[in-house]
Amino acid sequence: MIVQNWWFTTLLERQYQVCPPLQEHIKCDVLVIGGGMSGVSAAAEFLEKGLKVVLLERNILAGSSSGRSAGFLTPDSELELSQLVRRFGIEGANKIWEIPVKGIRGIKENVEKYNIACDFRTQDSLFLGIGKSGWKDVNDEMECRESVGFGNQTLYNKTELDKVLCSDGFTGAVRYGDTYGIDALQYLQGMKSVLLAGGIKIYESTQVLKIEDKTAITHAGKVSADQMVIAIDKMKHGFNKVADEVFHAQTFLSVSEPLSDREVQQLFPGGQDFQMWDSTVVYSYWRLIEGNRILLGGGSALTTFLPKAWYHENVITGVHKRFKKHFPFLTDLEFIQYWPGLIDTTRDLLPTIVRDEDNPNIHFILGVVGLPWASFCGQFVAKNILRTATEEDDKYYKYLSDRRYFALPAGLYRLIGKPLLFALNNGWAKYYQKDQQHRLRKKIGEF
Ligand SMILES: Cc1cc2nc3c(=O)[nH]c(=O)nc-3n(C[C@H](O)[C@H](O)[C@H](O)COP(=O)(O)OP(=O)(O)OC[C@H]3O[C@@H](n4cnc5c(N)ncnc54)[C@H](O)[C@@H]3O)c2cc1C
Repeated sequence: MIVQNWWFTTLLERQYQVCPPLQEHIKCDVLVIGGGMSGVSAAAEFLEKGLKVVLLERNILAGSSSGRSAGFLTPDSELELSQLVRRFGIEGANKIWEIPVKGIRGIKENVEKYNIACDFRTQDSLFLGIGKSGWKDVNDEMECRESVGFGNQTLYNKTELDKVLCSDGFTGAVRYGDTYGIDALQYLQGMKSVLLAGGIKIYESTQVLKIEDKTAITHAGKVSADQMVIAIDKMKHGFNKVADEVFHAQTFLSVSEPLSDREVQQLFPGGQDFQMWDSTVVYSYWRLIEGNRILLGGGSALTTFLPKAWYHENVITGVHKRFKKHFPFLTDLEFIQYWPGLIDTTRDLLPTIVRDEDNPNIHFILGVVGLPWASFCGQFVAKNILRTATEEDDKYYKYLSDRRYFALPAGLYRLIGKPLLFALNNGWAKYYQKDQQHRLRKKIGEF
């Protein structure tokens, strides 16, 4: 097993356009910095608006989290519905849930409109319970979905589950639809061609070192812009102090050799494949991808909060062992590549959108957990710049503002360090927080 991102391997098989680094001083109306799902979704919103738009990316487009991700397109990423209901009430949870749903819709529309080859597949979600407590979790999830009025879910007991998934050790599952799988690296590389064709200038291998007033400075060039969208990851305090709002969670992925057709049929006796995750706290997750390979991810309690990527095999081999216990007929399945990924996040897992205090032409998208959320946030910020945000968008403000309620202040990291602050605040948000008790007044022009 080698350390290598599988999606990069898939890129080697296809033609893709390379955008050379910036080597001049250019001026534009809007500069987008960061070419992940957030930045590309923002840039796409400016297509056909008659504006001069530039996108700068220090790697290749999708070269960081987006292009390392497992490509589960589900609203239910790290923020479970039950958490949202407790924190925001049924009405609030419903509104927040719309954010990733809209994000997924945006991605799907682009895949279809621009015919992007990115292994986009309809893949119902299967949340699998382990043991007695897992069966309770599954029932709670089912109840929660019903309480907010969702109608596309089914509860499976063990016997019913056996008809759709050949597995051991799961006590039941909730299945729901409108979820998809994607190779996000191929998707964003596909969107690169769309943006270029629409006249947007893209420079890869171009890191922004600092911003001076309305100008972004790179190693070999500069871009001056009236408006800037900054959607970068792993930002340092020295770049901008809003970096204090961003924390990291680590997960690991791996890819198997191809399954035979017979193994796929055995795995999914109902003839339909799923994206799946289990009910453990540091859960494992897996799905079938192009070429009948299994994409399997997970982590460990200790490495989740590490500030740096952990390249040892030991965590992912533990995930493989647990997976094979549930699927004994796949005991000999080899996993050939693995890679770690540090996901930027805020301390309550909701993304933050904020303008620079001294420089309101600069719009930050921070700590986005989940491709659907990133897709939405990029569009949301662009719409605010274009002033095409509607009354309908108004309702999301209070959930994305940096003025929303947090149990612990960001600055506390100076005393206790970022990993501990994140673990404490996230734990509180996950199990106890009730945000509807804290009213946030709207601030005109905040976004
Ligand atoms: C291993 C792993 C598995 C995941 N699985 C899933 C999943 O299954 N489903 C899901 O929904 N989400 C998943 N995620 C989370 C998801 O990938 C992220 O939430 C999402 O991609 C964030 O998108 P983004 O555009 O905000 O950030 P990024 O994709 O990190 O984009 C930021 C970009 O900014 C660039 N950049 C940084 N600094 C600079 C600079 N100074 N100048 C220029 N460019 C810069 C980076 O190179 C990067 O391309 C996973 C993440 C990881 C790491």
